[in-house]
Amino acid sequence: MHLAAPPVDGGAVVTGRVTLAIGAARIPVEMTVPAGPVAVEDVLPIVQGLSSLFAARATVQAEAEGRAVSCRAGCGACCRQLVPVAAAEARALARLVEALPEPRRSEVRRRFDQGLETLNALGILDRLDQDPASRQAVGLDYFRAGVACPFLEDEACSIHANRPMACREFLVSSPPAHCADPSSAVETLPLEAAPSVALLKADLRDGWTPLVLALVFDAQAPPSPRDRDAAGILKAVIGAL
Ligand code: SF4
Repeated sequence: MHLAAPPVDGGAVVTGRVTLAIGAARIPVEMTVPAGPVAVEDVLPIVQGLSSLFAARATVQAEAEGRAVSCRAGCGACCRQLVPVAAAEARALARLVEALPEPRRSEVRRRFDQGLETLNALGILDRLDQDPASRQAVGLDYFRAGVACPFLEDEACSIHANRPMACREFLVSSPPAHCADPSSAVETLPLEAAPSVALLKADLRDGWTPLVLALVFDAQAPPSPRDRDAAGILKAVIGAL
């Protein structure tokens, strides 16, 4: 498999090969990355590609065992959950929104604002920083608030190719109706590794933010410096898988 991140400011790229050792599996991957100093978001396409790779492997494995992924275009029930994104993903999503043509850009920004207004009125945003033990309750209240992801259009993801890793790795195998009811048991496919979590562990500077706060995070946080080499970032992410 080959994964590529685009060059930075038209600069050079380099290609390397790694073998991912995950349990008994050995997965060869060729990666093309910018040659010079980069920020984490510059290599995000590689980490997202790893996320899709493990999601695809989990799907193949489940199908071999007679289980199927029930997620389909037109079912956006899970797109009302609190979606955690790494700082690099939040910045990439903000760039994506900036690059949208009008009037779509304004419409997507309006949905972000509207979602924040609803969550604020319910006091849910104030509870996000609570200790990890309370996060499940906050997540349930978030879901019950019914705030659709700003990128959900006609119950389908409008940024499918650029969706966050948490979305790529959330593969439901239970009946779709369960997803709309937070009290029912939703079964998800186990992945051999979760690059979304590995990126959070490796990119310790900024932590994570809910997707709905991505634009606020990008506006408030200092820009991510281009002061790391791509191989070093990817080594840290792969080491955290
Ligand atoms: S980014 Fe796409 S898949 Fe993820 S929650 Fe939003 S609409 Fe759903």
